[in-house]
Amino acid sequence: MSTRLRMSHLAYPVTALGPGRRLALWVAGCPLRCPGCITPELQPTDAGRSIPIARLAAHVLKLPMDLQGVTLTGGEPFAQARALADLWALLSAARPAWDLLVFSGHRLAELQARGLSSAALLAPTDILIDGPYLRTRPIVHPLRASANQRIHYLSKRGRALRGDCEARNPSLANLGIGRCDEGWLIGILDGDRRQRLHRELGVAVR
Ligand code: SF4
Repeated sequence: MSTRLRMSHLAYPVTALGPGRRLALWVAGCPLRCPGCITPELQPTDAGRSIPIARLAAHVLKLPMDLQGVTLTGGEPFAQARALADLWALLSAARPAWDLLVFSGHRLAELQARGLSSAALLAPTDILIDGPYLRTRPIVHPLRASANQRIHYLSKRGRALRGDCEARNPSLANLGIGRCDEGWLIGILDGDRRQRLHRELGVAVR
């Protein structure tokens, strides 16, 4: 079992990264280096901080929130598949009704071909949004940032959420407070919509 996870930040309740009210966790480290990546600061493997998984799980389970599930993003969640699988085992044992949605820059077939290194996280994933972000193929969609990305409803629970995922408003975003008190827009927003929201909100948003 992994004991630590390299993470950047978490937010809740998030409604712009999957169905219902969710906990969203941004992990640190991504080897893919997509041009136009919206979180380039999370690409280095030493970005973020290392946190004991048991402590993170205990913190999440104490949140005074009625949540539906967890969204993993980053960074690349499958770069820390074992650690995240262990975190999910703790969370889902305490909250069996929660669903798990994961954004990955890798294709599902790649993850399946990797075998054990990805299988631990793939097995409990209900919904996977796969593929690298391609800034040459932008798309307006509630969960896909570029047209090459696909949504895989991998489990019965995930398939039951298909309608909710597909019907979501693609302009939905959440505003959080990031480090240094800067505004923080959460959601699948293309560059234009992100810029427009920056202006309309009148706050410095990264
Ligand atoms: S997979 Fe995601 S986090 Fe990684 S470089 Fe591409 S857009 Fe950025």
